Amino acid sequence: MDFQAFHRRSIEEPEAFWAEQAKLIDWQKPFEQVRDYSRPPLVDWFVGGQTNLCHNAVDRHLKTQADAKALIWVSTEVDKEVVYSFRELHAEVQRMAAMLLELGVGKGDRVLIYMPMIAEACFAMLACARIGAIHSVVFGGFASHSLASRIDNATPKVIVSADAGSRSGKSVPYKGLLDEAIQLATHKPAKVLMVNRGLAPYTPVAGRDEDYAALRAKHMDTQVPCTWVEATHPSYTLYTSGTTGTPKGVQRDTGGYAVALAASMKHIFLGKPGETYFSTSDIGWVVGHSYIIYGPLIAGMATIMYEGLPTRPDGGIWWSLVEKYKVTSMFSAPTAVRVLKKQDPAYLKKYDLSSLRALFLAGEPLDEPTAKWIADALGRPIIDNYWQTETGWPILTICNGIEPAPSKFGSPGKAVYGYDVKLVNESTGEEMKGADEKGVVMIEGPLPPGCMQTVWQDDARFVKTYWTQANGRWLYSTFDWGIRDQDGYYFILGRTDDVINVAGHRLGTREIEESISSHPNVAEVAVVGVADNLKGQVAMAFAIPKDASGLDDPAARLKLEGEIMKVVDGQLGAVARPSRVLFVTALPKTRSGKLLRRALQAVAEGRDPGDLTTIEDPSALQQVKALVAAK
Ligand code: AMP
Repeated sequence: MDFQAFHRRSIEEPEAFWAEQAKLIDWQKPFEQVRDYSRPPLVDWFVGGQTNLCHNAVDRHLKTQADAKALIWVSTEVDKEVVYSFRELHAEVQRMAAMLLELGVGKGDRVLIYMPMIAEACFAMLACARIGAIHSVVFGGFASHSLASRIDNATPKVIVSADAGSRSGKSVPYKGLLDEAIQLATHKPAKVLMVNRGLAPYTPVAGRDEDYAALRAKHMDTQVPCTWVEATHPSYTLYTSGTTGTPKGVQRDTGGYAVALAASMKHIFLGKPGETYFSTSDIGWVVGHSYIIYGPLIAGMATIMYEGLPTRPDGGIWWSLVEKYKVTSMFSAPTAVRVLKKQDPAYLKKYDLSSLRALFLAGEPLDEPTAKWIADALGRPIIDNYWQTETGWPILTICNGIEPAPSKFGSPGKAVYGYDVKLVNESTGEEMKGADEKGVVMIEGPLPPGCMQTVWQDDARFVKTYWTQANGRWLYSTFDWGIRDQDGYYFILGRTDDVINVAGHRLGTREIEESISSHPNVAEVAVVGVADNLKGQVAMAFAIPKDASGLDDPAARLKLEGEIMKVVDGQLGAVARPSRVLFVTALPKTRSGKLLRRALQAVAEGRDPGDLTTIEDPSALQQVKALVAAK
C-alpha cells in the first residue's frame, strides 16, 4: 500500500481511518463515536465502546492458541527460564486478580508496582487491567524519595513488590527502599503484596504486608472475569520527568491504547500470532508497557521478559535467545548496542538469527557508527523509531508493514500514520515548511489513539505543559528539536528543555539538582547533560560548596563528590547518579540571575558557548572550562 496515501487518510479522515484500525481488537460493546474533540486539546477516542486490555492481550487468544507460548521469562540473574502458554498466563493473571480483589482493589483504584523483571510483574499489570484497576509501575532503579513522590501522587490502595532484584548475580534489595518510601510518603497504602524470591531476607510489616505465595495458594482455581470498562477508562499512569522537579503521571486510556498498539504491531513491528517478540527494555519504562507486555500479547505473540545484563554470562546471551525462541522482532536501545559492540563480534556469528526480521531501536538518538555496526553484524534491517512516554507508540519511523521503505542513517524516519507532525519556529510560533530548517517537533491536536489522555488528576498541567494554541489550532510539543529533509525524513537534534537522556533513560536535571542540594555542604548546583560515547549522555554536576575550606585537597574533593553521589543514590536511585560532581565558586548566570544552562553544557562538552553578552561573571565559565580540561 502507498504509505503517503495511508498517512494522508489518517490525518484527513481520522474517524474512518481509526474505525478501521479498531477492528484489530475485541470490543464487548461497540463504540458510538470514533472521537470526541469537543474539549480541545483533550480528546476521547472510541466513545461509548467497552473493552478490556487483559481480554485483548490474553483471553481472546484462548480460542485459537491456548497452548502457544505467551510469556517467556528468562533470568540470567537467578538462572531460570519459565515459559507460560496463554492458558497458563490466563490462570496466573486470574490468581493475581483474585488476590488484588481480596486486598480490596476495585475498578479505578490504583495499584503501584515496584518490581524487578519477574513474571509476577507481568501478572500484576494484566491483573490490574483485568479488574479495571489503574497500575502505576515505578522503575526498580528508583530509590525511596522518587518512589515516595509517586506513591503520594498515585495514592495506591495496594503496592505489589518483591524482596529483591538482582544485578550481575548480586541481589538488589527492594523491600527496605519500599518501606522507607512508604514512611516518607503522606499517603499510606492499605496493603503491600510481596513476592518473596528468597534473595533478600525481610521482616513483613504486620497487618500490611501480604505474602504472594500464601495468597496465591488460596486462589489456584479462582475465576475472575474481565471487568468491561469504557474505552476512555484509564488503564495506567507512568511517571516521567520534565522541566519541573515533580514527575508527571502520564495517563493512558484503554480502548485507544489497545487499538494503537494492535495497529503498530501490524504496520510497524511486523508481528503475527505465534511469533516471538523480544524487547530488552524494562517494565518500568514505556517501552516495557507497550512492547514487552501489551503490544506483543495483543498481537497474539509470545513475549520475552529478560532479567539480566546483555553481557552475562557472555555477549551472546541475547542472540542465543533469538535462536532458541525464533524471535522475529527484536526491540532494544542504542546504548545496549554500543555495549554489545565492545564484545567479541564472533557472538553474532555463533547463533542462527535467520528468524529475525528486523531490530527496532528507540529511546535515544541512534548514531551512525552504532547503526552501521549492528546493521552489518546482523545483516537485518535496523529500524529506528522515535517516540516518548507521553505518546506510548512511535511518532516517527519507517512503517514497513504498510510499504517497505529505505532508512536513512541518523533519521528515525517519517511521520507515522495518525501523527500530524509539524516543525515550529520557537520564537515566532510559525510552522516551518521548507526542507532542512530546524524547529521544535510538534504534533497538531488531537493526539491519535494511544497517546496520553492527560496528566493524572491535573488537566490544567497537561494543557499548560504541552500545548499551545494558535489560529484555532492546538499544537502538542515533544520538547525535541528536529529537521525534515526534502523526502520527509526527520532528524532529531536533542531536547528543548532540561531533560537529559542517559542510556535511553529520561531524567530531569532539576530532580537531580534538588537531590544534590539536600547535601548539607551544597549551596547551589547545576546539572547538565554531557555527550558520552557509550551512554549518549551523562549527567554532570557543578556545585558551589557552602564551606570550601579544605577542598583544595583532591582527596577532600573526591570524598565530598562521593558523599553527594550517595545522596542521589539513596534518594533517586543509581540511575540518576551524576557521572561527576565538580566544585566551583560561581555558576554562569545572566545579570538577572538565570542560569545559562546551554552555555554551561557547551563548555562542559568542550564546545564554544556562543553569545555571552548577558553573562554576569565570565570567570564562572572559565572555571568550568579549566575543570573539564583537567578531567
Ligand atoms: P522517554 O519518554 O523516556 O521515552 O524519552 C523520550 C525522549 O527520548 C524523546 O523526547 C527524545 O528526546 C528521546 N528519543 C526517543 N527516541 C528517540 C530516537 N529514536 N531518536 C532520538 N531521540 C529519541
